[in-house]
Amino acid sequence: MNLEGGCSCNAIRYRLTESPLIVHACHCRDCQRVTGSGFVINIWIEREFVERTGAMPKSVTLKGGTGQDHDAFFCDKCGTYVWSRYHIAPGDALFVRAGTLDNPDAVKPDVHIFTRSKLPWLRLPEGALAFETAYSIENVWPAESKARLRRQMVAAASFRARNRGKESISPETSRRFRTSRLSTRR
Ligand SMILES: [Zn+2]
Ligand SMILES: [Zn+2]
Repeated sequence: MNLEGGCSCNAIRYRLTESPLIVHACHCRDCQRVTGSGFVINIWIEREFVERTGAMPKSVTLKGGTGQDHDAFFCDKCGTYVWSRYHIAPGDALFVRAGTLDNPDAVKPDVHIFTRSKLPWLRLPEGALAFETAYSIENVWPAESKARLRRQMVAAASFRARNRGKESISPETSRRFRTSRLSTRR
């Protein structure tokens, strides 16, 4: 799959180099407010598969529907929100706003969430998978997406472990370096 998109002024452009893990339509009050609309359509995808070109998005930390924070990333020039990073979501993932795709009709929601605050005039498609609030990944995601998430979480854990290892050596090493520099200066 090769989905491209960007902000309204085209300062930010992006390309998704993998298919979405899952596509959410979120009807929570926060998504309604931040989009100024009825709901947001979010493509949940590993960050490594979002290739950005052009400007670096700015970010602001907001409270999410779950009560946990998320960072919303937007264009500095035109203000279009291009994606979010939810602190509660496992793995290193972004939630790319499907409305910013060049062809937003390329994806459709796999699941509707936080329908407890869905606008009353909006009728979901017959048989649409919907939850009053959040849901369990185990029960909802296709096997392939679950496998992708597991792979990424294992990779992220080993990356953190490697970095922890470095941290335990690095302050000591840098202190020695500083000490030696001081001593040579004297
Ligand atoms: Zn822009
Ligand atoms: Zn939401």
